[in-house]
Amino acid sequence: MSCAEYSFHVPSLEELVGVLRKGLMDNFADVQVSVVDCPNLTKEPFTFPVKGICGKTRIAEAGVYDLNKITKEIQLPGAFVLGAGAGPFPTLGFNSEFMPVVQTESEHKPPVNGSYFAHVNSADGGCLLEKYSEKYHDLGFALLANLFASEGQPGKVIEVKSKRRTGKLNFVTCMRQTLEKHYGGPVGMGGTFFSSCPLNSDEDVNKWLRFYEMKAPLVCLPVFISRDPGFDLRLEHTHCFSHHGEGGHYHYDNTPDIVEYLGYFLPAEFLYRIDQPTETHSFGQD
Ligand SMILES: [Zn+2]
Repeated sequence: MSCAEYSFHVPSLEELVGVLRKGLMDNFADVQVSVVDCPNLTKEPFTFPVKGICGKTRIAEAGVYDLNKITKEIQLPGAFVLGAGAGPFPTLGFNSEFMPVVQTESEHKPPVNGSYFAHVNSADGGCLLEKYSEKYHDLGFALLANLFASEGQPGKVIEVKSKRRTGKLNFVTCMRQTLEKHYGGPVGMGGTFFSSCPLNSDEDVNKWLRFYEMKAPLVCLPVFISRDPGFDLRLEHTHCFSHHGEGGHYHYDNTPDIVEYLGYFLPAEFLYRIDQPTETHSFGQD
């Protein structure tokens, strides 16, 4: 396993509040950004296995691996990991979108796998979301995954509320481009947000060009980097899940006039690029 490490520029939360607010106001009519105590993410709609997303934050982009191995590789065994990737084809036997929500194993605790996967229901061509742990017991995934890892602790986070989209950018792209414009160099962020309005999903991995409208509430798992420091990275990737059987790749909201996002984010301290392909790929990049 090869692993490249990079230290992000890590602005203070207070500074990010001002930067994100200004950028989001170009794209949303009503924007509130502040530093808050992370809400208890074990509660609905998040239902994560940990209370928060704080402590030793990292972003990792990796190829075919086991999440337990990855958290050891990024010096954070037992980390809480969220993000977006492809489901483990060898296990499932079909292509799927994967929503990792995992507390990995540590010396004292077995792993807790709250991940979901979504795939095309062969019966009706619709979207089918399933909880991974109800069928399988590994922590694998295939192809590429974009991950945000932390100790999963409570603590201070940036709360972002954005209502009524007036611009063309989706919520995540708007924040990412705001960071790029302001900082120039690489700043990475991750966390979670939910939408109380329907979202569009495209099954991006295989360019199936299937678009679904997914009902709210949807819990999204964003990972984004303002600029690639030269590791052939995907700059943003967001998957979402729900408790009503829908999930997939976050693409857009359908109802800009009434859309409402509420999210909790943190900057990442380090980036890890695990097994960077030797040939540049354009696969799966938006
Ligand atoms: Zn995706």
